[in-house]
Amino acid sequence: MATHRTKMLIIGSGPAGYSAAIYGARAMMEPIVVQGLQPGGQLTITTDVENYPGYKDVVQGPWLMEQMQAQAEHVGTRMMWDTIVDVDIAGGSPFRAVGDSGDEYIGDVLVIATGAQAKWLGAPGEQELGGKGVSACATCDGFFYRGKKVAVIGGGNTAVEEALYLTNHSDDVTLIHRRDELRAEKILQERVFASDKIKPLWNKSVDSFEAGEDGSLHHLVLKDTQTGETSTLEVDGAFVAIGHAPATELFKGKLPMDDGGYLLVDAGTPKTEVPGVFACGDVMDHIYRQAVTAAGTGCMAALDAERFLATLDFAKDEMPAVEAAE
Ligand code: NDP
Repeated sequence: MATHRTKMLIIGSGPAGYSAAIYGARAMMEPIVVQGLQPGGQLTITTDVENYPGYKDVVQGPWLMEQMQAQAEHVGTRMMWDTIVDVDIAGGSPFRAVGDSGDEYIGDVLVIATGAQAKWLGAPGEQELGGKGVSACATCDGFFYRGKKVAVIGGGNTAVEEALYLTNHSDDVTLIHRRDELRAEKILQERVFASDKIKPLWNKSVDSFEAGEDGSLHHLVLKDTQTGETSTLEVDGAFVAIGHAPATELFKGKLPMDDGGYLLVDAGTPKTEVPGVFACGDVMDHIYRQAVTAAGTGCMAALDAERFLATLDFAKDEMPAVEAAE
């Protein structure tokens, strides 16, 4: 069991955590990144990435994350292969975290970049066909279905936005919902109903995702949630949009969260209500959820961390002696 001490402790290793580390290391905060169960985060389970700025050609998600990790290490970040199982932030800075390994991590600032994960249906074929027709991100993968038949599963804001986004690429978008009423905001619903490219399919759940001879998605097996009848729907792509779950279990009762479990921050900043604790990336963002926005808020966390440390240093310094008046 070892104790690792740093000015800047970062939990999580997606674009947010690595970007915070790159900026933090260059600001001499000697960051430690505790990488967690899925080093690299959600991008390591996607394939082609075409929307991360700086690359003219398609890059692979895992490769992009390897590059970010290497860049963070190159400028002086220490990577720890450990998963944080407990944090103590109640007493203020310095913050203490304990890893699965039994090691202890102490940081003057704590950057939370634990991310979020798309929820999946758990239906047969869903995971096997991931990247071969099944996706949880239309913004990431919609482009690959230009002129093809696609379906979106879900009835919330995400599903509706994904369906609307997909109309940029496809004229044949089916929105499959388990009820006969959408949960999404009315204004988004109106856009869906006004689109001649989106066909809502009510009261249907997906029983399975079936592959064709080429090994990629060929059709969905649907079940009517009212009658139990089954049917099939041929599609080239299916986007599961039934919500995201932020990885905030560790912080329950310790930091304020919204109803969905996302960490609350001061508007437009990565500052949580505890001075010195910053949240960046998908763990605090249920709206944009892009690698580039996560990287942006990671950078903001590092800049605010630096400012916070400056106030700590100032508080530690002895007050300058006041010269006696003559
Ligand atoms: P939501 O929880 O709002 O919606 C999830 C949808 O998926 C619901 O329609 C739900 O059905 C359906 N669903 C859940 N589980 C299953 C299942 N097992 N099988 C079939 N369907 C299922 O999640 P969202 O990701 O849409 O939104 C999350 C939060 O983010 C919300 O607060 C939303 O408003 C916000 N958001 C805001 C955006 C914006 O402001 N532009 C954009 C995107 C999200 P049912 O309705 O029957 O429960």
